[in-house]
Amino acid sequence: MGSKLPPIRKFECMECKYVDYRMSTREVGETVPGDCPRCGGNLQVTAVGAPDWLIRPLELVAQKFDILDVVARPDRIELEVSSRKFPTAFRYLLKAFGGENYLPVMREQEGELRLTLVRRQEVRAGSVLVNVVLFLATVASTFVAGYYLFDGSIASAALFSASLMLMLVAHELGHKISAWHNGVVSTLPYFIPAPPPFPLGTLGAVINIKSPIPTKEALVEMGASGPITGFALSVVITFIGLTFLSPGGLEVPLPFVPVMFGLLQLLTLGRVTATFALNPLTFAGWVVMLLTMFNMIPVGQLDGGHIARAVLGRQRHFLLTRVLGFSLLFLGLAFPDLPIFFIWGLLILLFFRGYHPGALDDVSPLSLRHKALAAVALVVFILCLPIPLM
Ligand SMILES: [Zn+2]
Ligand SMILES: [Zn+2]
Repeated sequence: MGSKLPPIRKFECMECKYVDYRMSTREVGETVPGDCPRCGGNLQVTAVGAPDWLIRPLELVAQKFDILDVVARPDRIELEVSSRKFPTAFRYLLKAFGGENYLPVMREQEGELRLTLVRRQEVRAGSVLVNVVLFLATVASTFVAGYYLFDGSIASAALFSASLMLMLVAHELGHKISAWHNGVVSTLPYFIPAPPPFPLGTLGAVINIKSPIPTKEALVEMGASGPITGFALSVVITFIGLTFLSPGGLEVPLPFVPVMFGLLQLLTLGRVTATFALNPLTFAGWVVMLLTMFNMIPVGQLDGGHIARAVLGRQRHFLLTRVLGFSLLFLGLAFPDLPIFFIWGLLILLFFRGYHPGALDDVSPLSLRHKALAAVALVVFILCLPIPLM
């Protein structure tokens, strides 16, 4: 194994004491003028061979890649590599570095394959108490919302709250399972209560991803699993609500109807309408389709944003985030009755100003199966878009 390792020299800056290790065959005492990355001073070769902390990472990389260049410091090892089978080679590296101090990150820059080994950050588990408190607060706020919406009926309030929470939990469980499956560390969901006068009782829930996502395929799975699961359940619950329950007391006209909601109405009522007596199940289904629509907007680090980042790449995803953010903003200005568009546009532009960090392996292509999963997610997004019924 040792024979495959590249020749390494220690370089020291003669002015500012900067030190790094590079792939080089220079002799001890040779200088490289003006090459100090910190002060621009002269670097001098002061030792031959790699230090202990560098040997093992180089050995692991050399098992699957040809190493073309190395610049290394203890917190960051930068490599230029080549490989004839890099999709599987990177998977091998992820496994091999599982118990090591470094995390491999692969990028393609100007046709060159760059592998950076960054020092692993300790992932600290947060307190579960916050998750529990927010969950209970959201159970309460959705119950209160249901109580007001359905004229003080405790049974209706309970049914609204229970079915809504069930769909939100299914959505978050979808994320959680794909996180486990992909070895990604994530928090439990944080449910967002929205007490009156906000009519829905909740703004959904979020999971905090605490460790990097290994591959683009994992990114697609992480983004798609939650919305697809929650949406599937919302279709079932809306259908049950439309078919088996008598209409409830809620007769406020909906501002719009999601495409899937309209299709289910067509199937059960024979018409698509925004003004009909909603019951707790149909209203909870409507709320979840609405929340799914906002989650699936392919921008930033929303669920849809993860998928778009994997499918479109860094630049196009960034551009799409800007374009859709401003579009929602202008849509909000054009329809002042629906301030939610303006608010979402503003939030997108404020929260997602930078690039999405992407997967550790941002080079290997998506499998056909994951492209299909991304397409299903797109269909779900379209089925949740509003049909305006003015
Ligand atoms: Zn220097
Ligand atoms: Zn989600």
